[in-house]
Amino acid sequence: MYKEELMEEVAAEIIACRKCPLWKKRKKPVPGEGNINANVMFIGEAPGYWEDVNGKPFVGSAGEILDEMLSEIGLSRNKVYIANILKCRPPENRDPSASEIKACVPYLNQQIRIVKPKIIVTLGRHSTSYILSECGLEAEGITRLHGRKYVVELLGFKVLLIPMYHPAAALYNPKYRSGLERDFRLLSQELERLGCL
Ligand code: SF4
Repeated sequence: MYKEELMEEVAAEIIACRKCPLWKKRKKPVPGEGNINANVMFIGEAPGYWEDVNGKPFVGSAGEILDEMLSEIGLSRNKVYIANILKCRPPENRDPSASEIKACVPYLNQQIRIVKPKIIVTLGRHSTSYILSECGLEAEGITRLHGRKYVVELLGFKVLLIPMYHPAAALYNPKYRSGLERDFRLLSQELERLGCL
């Protein structure tokens, strides 16, 4: 089966999913979107208000920051793949619960296997902690982890992991914004080193 069909199958499963209570209040599930042959995959936390309305990841103000950062290193959404750990919005944007994460991550894992990116960028502490645990590693705080690169074995293949702050953190805090800019420069250097730019 082709990658496109596999990804459509995952999206159809997500749209019909009732594995955790979040389906009850969602407007639209947000499976993920982008280039299924991307070298870099971004993994965020969960849909927010506008993502829930539109059924697309990172379309609110945090999405604008993400677009700016991508553009500053010569990337755009059609060159990357973007997904979240949770595919449905938690009420009032609260943190994902452990049981919701456990129920939902099989979808993300399937998406990672389909895209098989060279680099995974985790945005924020929840996605960083999930990916590290999937690699059998313990998560430290995102403040310590961001801005570094880690070669990890994830779901049976080697991938470069670059944890970053969640773009929402950079909305009102210049410290996080400049941290995010530095991390995107690191991403650009790594893409160049790997011959992906
Ligand atoms: S958050 Fe994930 S597990 Fe829960 S209903 Fe939505 S798709 Fe299913």
